[in-house]
Amino acid sequence: DERFITPQTLNDDDRVDRAIRPIRLEDYIGQPVVREQMELFVAAARQRKEALDHTLIFGPPGLGKTTLAHIIANEMGVNLRQTSGPVLERPGDLAALLTNLEPNDVLFVDEIHRLSPVVEEVLYPAMEDYQIDIMIGEGPAARSIKLDLEPFTLVGATTRAGSLTSPLRDRFGIVQRLEFYNVADLSTIVQRSARILGLTLDVNGADEIAHRSRGTPRIANRLLRRVRDYAEVRFDGIVTAEIARQALDLLDVDKFGFDMLDRKLLLAIIEKFSGGPVGLDNIAAAIGEERGTIEDVIEPFLIQEGFIMRTPRGRIATKRAFLHLGLTPDLDLTG
Ligand code: ADP
Repeated sequence: DERFITPQTLNDDDRVDRAIRPIRLEDYIGQPVVREQMELFVAAARQRKEALDHTLIFGPPGLGKTTLAHIIANEMGVNLRQTSGPVLERPGDLAALLTNLEPNDVLFVDEIHRLSPVVEEVLYPAMEDYQIDIMIGEGPAARSIKLDLEPFTLVGATTRAGSLTSPLRDRFGIVQRLEFYNVADLSTIVQRSARILGLTLDVNGADEIAHRSRGTPRIANRLLRRVRDYAEVRFDGIVTAEIARQALDLLDVDKFGFDMLDRKLLLAIIEKFSGGPVGLDNIAAAIGEERGTIEDVIEPFLIQEGFIMRTPRGRIATKRAFLHLGLTPDLDLTG
């Protein structure tokens, strides 16, 4: 039973997404600092006819890391090869990709914090000197040879900058951190998507969706598609604020964009652990979710919105969390 508002990709996302995913920096909405810097760095690399510096993009799922990687390749006018940390099992897997790159191509490694140490070793000289050492043969006859690579740009994406080893992190010349999007930017994003999908969405309808999208474009676009279903089946297909509100209520997405799982997490901290502080593992056990999912997917937005605080002794539910669930902080803490 998949979580509807998860910022992770769901099955039907991909197909529709190809149509609405921005492919130029000028269509990359929000993230003004990232956009301005990338415009500059790309222009400079192009002028020098060099590969763009290796670029690390980090931020919670659904904020546009993959999109930005593709845009970078587009703007540089080069190919993009895509892989991910867990997929690269052996050094040879990475070597095969690297030796097939054309000059200045982008190699996009998603979830780069999950690279195995032996694969990561291959990456160091590749990033630094555009060279790799590969072992040929086995046992006493084995020897290592150096291969020259074409200049390339490694674009790494991660939800956890803290999990990267420092030798890897230090080899990125450009580091971009994506922030949750504000309501105005999310509204612009769904209005753009609606235009592409041929859907009539008024500004208030767009704002209503934006408000409930957890600062995340992937969720905004997904909610838009479900609201469209509702508008087309029950009404004439035009999305107003009222129709958006009804559709989103039906989907059980509340006015902060929280769903069952967010509320379950907040309730667990409050009811089972007296509001905290409580460690992640205890929360994970209480709600039956993995620690990593809580850390990467559920809690960043709750923390950013001030519903949970992260302290050295664990997570604490704030007054805001109590009030949102209709509870009174003091009474519930003592009772
Ligand atoms: P991530 O790689 O961080 O999980 P994606 O790049 O896959 O996120 O983004 C999810 C979807 O959200 C994209 O496919 C795109 O449709 C939309 N999106 C992301 N960032 C933006 C943006 N800045 N402007 C417009 N749409 C965006």
